[in-house]
Amino acid sequence: MTITVLCPNLKCRKVLAVPEEARGQKVRCKHCGTTFLVPRRKNAPKKAGKEDNITLVG
Ligand SMILES: [Zn+2]
Repeated sequence: MTITVLCPNLKCRKVLAVPEEARGQKVRCKHCGTTFLVPRRKNAPKKAGKEDNITLVG
């Protein structure tokens, strides 16, 4: 099974299909040659709550 990752090169930004076992490993974008780490998870889960803290002023 493959997963899709977005090339981090801002001038490229190609959607790349990589093997799922490539997670946590470096891959090379065949379009621009940038090597980057494939995230272990497709979408990093956001921590529930507490992220939108506001700062009280005054
Ligand atoms: Zn690229």
